[in-house]
Amino acid sequence: MEYLFDAWPYISTRLAFRHGNRTSRSSQLPTPGTLLVLSDFDGTLAPIVPVPDYACLPPDTRDILQQLASREGYLLGIVSGRALADLKSRVAIDGLIYAGNYGLEMEGPWGNLVHPEAQAFRHTVETLHEHLKHRLNGIEHVVIEFKALSLSVHYRLTSPADHGRIKREIFGALKESQACKSMLVSPGKMVWELIPAVRWDKGNAIDYLLCKTPLIHGPVLPIFLGDDKCDEAGFAAVRRYDGISIFVGNIHEAQSMACYYLNGTNDVAEFLRRLLVFPEKDRLT
Ligand SMILES: [Mg+2]
Repeated sequence: MEYLFDAWPYISTRLAFRHGNRTSRSSQLPTPGTLLVLSDFDGTLAPIVPVPDYACLPPDTRDILQQLASREGYLLGIVSGRALADLKSRVAIDGLIYAGNYGLEMEGPWGNLVHPEAQAFRHTVETLHEHLKHRLNGIEHVVIEFKALSLSVHYRLTSPADHGRIKREIFGALKESQACKSMLVSPGKMVWELIPAVRWDKGNAIDYLLCKTPLIHGPVLPIFLGDDKCDEAGFAAVRRYDGISIFVGNIHEAQSMACYYLNGTNDVAEFLRRLLVFPEKDRLT
C-alpha cells in the first residue's frame, strides 16, 4: 500500500481522465467521464467516537462533499453499515447515493433498492435483538444497535474482562433464536456485526451502482474509501473496475487489499479538498 498523497502525481493523471483526450483531432467533443466517489462513514468520513450515536460528519467535510456533489461529472455516495435512515440523517446532503446496512438498502438519484432476500430476515433480526437484549443485560456500556435488516453489538466502552462473555452471549443468542445459519457474525472495530446470510456486501452494492443503475454513462473512475474489514469487499470491487481503493487508518494495525492508504479522517477531508480544486490547481502547477 502506498500513501495516497505520495502517489498524487499518478493519481492526478487518473483523475484527469474526466476531461477526455484534449489532443483528439475528432470534431466531436470527448465523452466526459464520471468520477464516482464512494466512502464508508464511521472511521472514514466521521471520526470514531466512544458511542456510535455520537458520530457526526465534521462541518468542513460536509461542506466539501456538498460542493463536490453539485459539480458536474461527480457522483458521490456513502456506503455504510448503519441503517439507511440513520446514515441519511447524519450526512444530510441532497443528491448523494446512500447505501445503508452494508448496501442491503440503497437510495439515490435513480430510485431505491432494498435487497429482496434481506427483507425476509426482518423477523429473524427482531427475534435475535430480543435475545441479545436479554443476554447482554447487565454488561456495562455494551451498545446493541438495531438496524432492522442487521444488528451491531458495540463493546468499545466495556471492560476487557467482559469481551469474552459478550462474544459467547452473541453466539448463545444466535442459537436461541435459531439464527446460526441465517445470520453471519463479522468482527469490526470493537464491534460484532450480525448480518443476514445473503450474498451481498459493500462490493456487490458497488457492482450494482456501476452496472444496474442508469447513473453512469460513458467512462467512469470509481473510488472507494473505507477503514474496516467490511470495506474490503468494496476495495475489491473498485479494483475490478480499475478504480482507486483507499484504506483509512493505521496500516501497521490492519491488513488491507486497498492500493493506497490515508492516515485518518483529516487526510480524507484533505483528499476531498484536492478533488474539489482539481484540475484547476493542477493546471497552475
Ligand atoms: Mg468504518
